[in-house]
Amino acid sequence: MRDWLKREPIVLVKGRGAVLTDAHGREYLDANSSIWTNLHGHNHPRINAAIQGQLKKIAHSSALGFANEPASLLAARLVEAANSPRSELPGVKGRDAAVSTKGTSPSHPPLTKVFFSDDGSTAVEVALKLAYEFARRSGRSAKPKFLSLAGAYHGDTVGAVSLGHIDLFHKSYADLLFKTDTVMAPYCYRCPFNRAKPERADAREYRRCQWECVGLVEKKFAGQRRKGKPYAAMIIEPLIQGAAGMIPQPSGWLRQVAEIVRGDGAQLIADEVMTGFGRTGMAGEKKSKGNASAANLFACHHEDVQPDFLALAKGLTGGYLPMAATLTTQKVFNAFLGDYSEFKTFFHGHSFTGNQLGAASALASLDLLQSPKSVRARWRLEQTLRDALADLWRWPNVGDIRQVGLIAGIELVKDWRTREPFDLRAQAGIRVCEAMARRGVLTRPIGNVIVLMPPYCATHAQVEHMVEAVAESIESVFGRGAD
Ligand code: PMP
Repeated sequence: MRDWLKREPIVLVKGRGAVLTDAHGREYLDANSSIWTNLHGHNHPRINAAIQGQLKKIAHSSALGFANEPASLLAARLVEAANSPRSELPGVKGRDAAVSTKGTSPSHPPLTKVFFSDDGSTAVEVALKLAYEFARRSGRSAKPKFLSLAGAYHGDTVGAVSLGHIDLFHKSYADLLFKTDTVMAPYCYRCPFNRAKPERADAREYRRCQWECVGLVEKKFAGQRRKGKPYAAMIIEPLIQGAAGMIPQPSGWLRQVAEIVRGDGAQLIADEVMTGFGRTGMAGEKKSKGNASAANLFACHHEDVQPDFLALAKGLTGGYLPMAATLTTQKVFNAFLGDYSEFKTFFHGHSFTGNQLGAASALASLDLLQSPKSVRARWRLEQTLRDALADLWRWPNVGDIRQVGLIAGIELVKDWRTREPFDLRAQAGIRVCEAMARRGVLTRPIGNVIVLMPPYCATHAQVEHMVEAVAESIESVFGRGAD
């Protein structure tokens, strides 16, 4: 914090597309989409117009006991998108069309209920409280217990922190938190079960293991069952863990783990606060070539996994306004249904729940997101990012490059041959990001991992410039050129 006080902060005053402008008129590329929120760029005319149009009617009215038009329409759109493994184009299915339950089956009930809140942390809190109470009311467990992944981060409120396992952020609050179980997350680059030597490629591709990480999940569930205390739910960031250091799961991990959770009868909570709304791109859809009907909006659907809870925030409004949603099933909803005198209601409601401006913004964002133009642009940008990142393997301080869709993590190490990490006190990631800012590219590291997450409107030249700034900054900070 002292370091931060010493420096003059970059005061951002304007934004257009992928470009941010500070109070001195200096321009920067928004290389982490304003902490993973922005989808279509800043000052987007369609989203601006939607918010302005809504503003002329009303900015906010309470959703506690009342409904409003944009939030109701948004709920219908989210249900439609969450239940179509391949997001449908607007017009093909009108926004008021009947809810699609394609891709769901009786064992994977559709997500038909939407609870609005304010941000990613509250979206997770809502899922947590619903899953907790559902486990009690359904007779599964008197004292419901949760399982999450090592390195997990699900937000900064106390419930979400309890599900998290990043010591640096969470340890000080240990006495304030409730206990949750943790299980090894797949982290192929640093996995003790991966017997492969380092190569100049994504560690997921050359790993040599026997899916021990999946075996450990199985063991956890079996252990709780034996004790007669089955888990209420497991929470996962599907395909890639964000704040843990942009750690992607090898293809097939999610499907196998979802099967274990299902087989146990526990609930699966997908935290798609970061991964939602097209961020994870066309992973596994190599043949789609940007075909709109093949565009998954949610990471889970890449592995045909349908969770019981889907937590959404960040990109929900296109990154304009704080708004979140937690989707769940009719079965969970029914557990809170009763006569007034039974007091079965879910007693949870934030003042700004169902905010009308936020909902109007989200509807405009979804229109953009599901347009063929945006899908094709995302597909092309993903390839550009992949091609540009490939050049970074030449730097000896680049240990691993991990890309999932339009998310990339570049792990810095002392030398790629040894994978030896920098001590956090050396501030390797921070120094590289500061050098990038001097080159007009803004992002924020996670420890020794440099994050690139361009907004979908970024041009190919802008994405290439982001990656060039990483290369030049690594060279300037560590004083070692490419091999
Ligand atoms: N879950 C995930 C996966 C996140 O990445 C974040 C934020 N980085 C959160 C939850 C919390 O979201 P918020 O900061 O909006 O509360």
